[in-house]
Amino acid sequence: MIELNNFINGEFRPPSGGRYLDNVNPATGSVYAKLARSDAEDINAAVAAAQQAFPTWSATPLAERAAMLHRIADGIEARLDEFAATESMDQGKPVSLATAVDIPRAVWNFRYFADAMQHHTEEATHMDAKALNYVNRKAVGVAGLISPWNLPLYLLTWKIAPALITGNTCVAKPSEMTSHTAVLLGEVLQSAGLPAGVCNLVFGTGAEAGAALVGHPEVPLISFTGGTATAEHIIKDSAPHFKKLSLELGGKNAFLVFADSDLDACLPVALRAAFTNQGEVCLCGSRMFVERPIFDEFLARFSAMARELRVGDPKDPQTNMGALVSAAHRDKVQRYIALAQEEGGTIHSGGKAPDLPEPFQYGFFLEPTVVSGLAPNCRVQQEEIFGPVVTITPFDREEEVVAWANGTKYGLSATIWTGDLSRGHRVAHAMDAGIIWVNTWMLRDLRTPFGGMKASGVGREGGGHSIDFYTEVQNICIQYG
Ligand code: NAD
Repeated sequence: MIELNNFINGEFRPPSGGRYLDNVNPATGSVYAKLARSDAEDINAAVAAAQQAFPTWSATPLAERAAMLHRIADGIEARLDEFAATESMDQGKPVSLATAVDIPRAVWNFRYFADAMQHHTEEATHMDAKALNYVNRKAVGVAGLISPWNLPLYLLTWKIAPALITGNTCVAKPSEMTSHTAVLLGEVLQSAGLPAGVCNLVFGTGAEAGAALVGHPEVPLISFTGGTATAEHIIKDSAPHFKKLSLELGGKNAFLVFADSDLDACLPVALRAAFTNQGEVCLCGSRMFVERPIFDEFLARFSAMARELRVGDPKDPQTNMGALVSAAHRDKVQRYIALAQEEGGTIHSGGKAPDLPEPFQYGFFLEPTVVSGLAPNCRVQQEEIFGPVVTITPFDREEEVVAWANGTKYGLSATIWTGDLSRGHRVAHAMDAGIIWVNTWMLRDLRTPFGGMKASGVGREGGGHSIDFYTEVQNICIQYG
């Protein structure tokens, strides 16, 4: 049995309490590794190591820190296939997806922030030839980084890279369901020669390791990606210490299709928006609204395409959808499918677990599920399901669909399909969401602001926003006149 141990002060260590969690392969339901179940003692050791490493790392020349990030990127890239296979085994996603998206994006996170910070400039202001104001950025200290299970290495490195390039040291706590690629990352950090204590990886549950990190008085900054309910705990637990917080939370994203859309272009993208990563992407377009003249055609073609998706062995290159992350999560998604029927919905595709051969009949698979006939304010259209379930609803007027799109507590992303670019701009501006795509979906540019409104988050990361978040900004005013 593989043991996945903490990476603290440059070395792998078992958890101080000697306890482990079962680490499950979602595609087979089998336990294939033991994961360190850390507690406050492990977090204290990791924070102490990070504090000790901070003075030297924050004073290391930027070009050296950037070179280190590129070496880390090289190290991941050199083991890309191993990282992708591990991510798939741990999370359930197709290996092809991890190979094409998750792991290359982790590489790019390090490369992007290494280069972006070296090109970052600040403005200065002169006051009537009398005084000069300029900005000095200081690293904040030990950054606490907490990430979810859907895009494990992708989201973990989206936090580690900007934290390190700006001179912070860090303690990262990945999801207890998907920590395996973080162990491989620890090996890469070692072989890249990252000084001990600069980046520590502590594994275990949110209630134990996560809460200890959030409540640690020597961790002045928390970047959290995960569920909205968890974020409430993080806000409360960090409040006594006035921590810098960035919260990237859940979504229930609208996908609007106007009748003037190019359906041949829209439908494959809509399918990806619904079912990529088994629908376990915070940005998934899970609420589709289609203008009435094309509603029947859209529903029929979309449902037929969903039925064609191949669900099963994540290692098979032909597989489109793998397993959901856990039995508990699969059960939750199935309860929503049952609720959709109770709320009066009609299922056009999926709705159940597929029949799969040994050993996949023990995995947590679900067919891509398409539901119509639900009111926009029903629970299935209001609550985040985070699985392969999409609702499709007809609309008649632009004002009506804008109100429905905005009519949830969430505000992460929205997608608009239209042949009329003026309408694209107008409706985009009307959306209460942080990220809007027009005639595309999930086209990501790391220079752009990323984050949500309302219950989908607080703050933005990406580009200069990450640099702002991971630094303290000082204004220095010098009188010279
Ligand atoms: P989660 O909130 O259950 O867990 C996220 C992380 O927080 C895990 O590492 C967990 O161990 C930790 N945690 C749990 N309780 C904690 C506590 N009390 N204190 C500190 N840490 C704690 O979320 P999840 O189920 O892993 O991920 C799914 C959620 O993440 C969905 O809601 C999804 O929309 C959201 N998500 C958002 C984004 C985004 O960028 N907005 C991206 C991906 C996922």
